[in-house]
Amino acid sequence: MLTEASRVHDRRWVTQCALSRICGGCAMSLGRPVVFVGTPEEVARNAFHLPPLHEGCAEELCRQPGADPRWELVSTAGFEFVRPGRDEVEDRPTFQPNSLL
Ligand SMILES: [Zn+2]
Repeated sequence: MLTEASRVHDRRWVTQCALSRICGGCAMSLGRPVVFVGTPEEVARNAFHLPPLHEGCAEELCRQPGADPRWELVSTAGFEFVRPGRDEVEDRPTFQPNSLL
């Protein structure tokens, strides 16, 4: 049984959240803003690996054991789910916020 904090790292769950537009934390529909949690590197690349979250769920995740102290929150009204291409260094799908708030 995965805890909520580790579930956000589960690739199948991440994909399900992306396709169903549900929150990676509470599994309820996403509204606006959608919040992504990422390291400064992910923020700089605008490519996140954790699933989209509600604002409150994102804050909750950052307080849980296993949270990365460097995590930053980014709010957006929308995002693209980008699957890795064959020739790309990135081998995991990423989320790319497209209208930062
Ligand atoms: Zn939520």
